[in-house]
Amino acid sequence: MDFIQLYSDGFIRRRKPRWMVAMFAAAILGSSCSGGPMDRTELVLGTVCSIRILDGGSTKALDAAFARLREIEATMSANATGTVVAAVNAAAGRSPVSAPADVRHVTAKALGYAAVSRGAFDPTIGPIVKLWNIGLDGERIPSRAEITAALPLVDFRQVRIDDAAGTIFLPRAGMLLDLGAIAKGYAADEVGRILLEKRVKAAVIDLGGNVKVVGRKPDGAKWRIGIQNPFDERGAHIGVATLGGGATVVTSGVYERFFIGVDGTRYHHILDTRSGYPVRNGLVSVTVISSSSVDADGLSTTLFALGLKDGMALAESLGHVEAVFIDEAKKVYMSSGAAAVFALTDAAFTAAPLP
Ligand code: ADP
Ligand code: MG
Repeated sequence: MDFIQLYSDGFIRRRKPRWMVAMFAAAILGSSCSGGPMDRTELVLGTVCSIRILDGGSTKALDAAFARLREIEATMSANATGTVVAAVNAAAGRSPVSAPADVRHVTAKALGYAAVSRGAFDPTIGPIVKLWNIGLDGERIPSRAEITAALPLVDFRQVRIDDAAGTIFLPRAGMLLDLGAIAKGYAADEVGRILLEKRVKAAVIDLGGNVKVVGRKPDGAKWRIGIQNPFDERGAHIGVATLGGGATVVTSGVYERFFIGVDGTRYHHILDTRSGYPVRNGLVSVTVISSSSVDADGLSTTLFALGLKDGMALAESLGHVEAVFIDEAKKVYMSSGAAAVFALTDAAFTAAPLP
């Protein structure tokens, strides 16, 4: 967990949270009027969310942005009780449930990534996620029998979104929708939209590592966003992406959420929809650079689940999307347009040719 820090050299680094300092600074800044720089950090969407406004800041803008984050959490979280997704899950096998347009939109986006990946990405992974509980209380290695029993419930093709009726329906009892791989990206886009609406001119949004930059930096320079070193502590980067306003950088990795089992194995939170176990394909992280954070978030998880060969092929087939894959051997594979925006700076990593 960390938050983004914009240094005087204009470079964005991610830091471990210093809660008291951050909250105190936010309180002071929050009490100022409008126009100047200000930031706020809160725990929302199960992670540390920070918004740093460099130009055109106002308390109203931050209030509106965090209110929207809490609203998204209150509708789309699969872990919390009382959310729309929880209601859809509770009614699985029985009846469709009313779901607002944004929940249907994000679900439809997730089903789109499920279709292009032929189910390697699947938002009905819920029953498997729940068995492992990775990163939550009660995380454990489930028995093979439990996984075998849960796997048939994972099937994105069965999800019914009815836009005319405004409902979502899971036809089989026990099915569970999980938007955890994509909701933070949608939230970042929403915050970006709201900040611009509130006349913010430049801002950095960091929702637990899901980064989006808004507007133009006051000095007119491009934004510089580091890509996390998956082997090092938070804030260490392997290189820098230099990007214009509206850009987003989203990473899915084995280091985000994991536990070490009694068998000594690292079990991380991106799950193989065929085996029911964490994906093991030699990758440690996949970063997507794009202008849409909902797509970058959905896609980073999708590319990770697909693996280097199929994932890179999918990234290359999409316009306006660049991808950076890192494997266990510290090799870095970049999509053909990535070199124009991303510079590898850590000599411990080597750029490798496309597979
Ligand atoms: P993060 O939450 O760290 O940004 P991701 O965006 O990669 O990471 O999302 C991982 C989450 O997505 C998991 O915690 C789980 O809720 C869900 N998930 C895990 N495996 C899959 C999968 N194969 N398809 C879709 N969602 C998945
Ligand atoms: Mg994701």
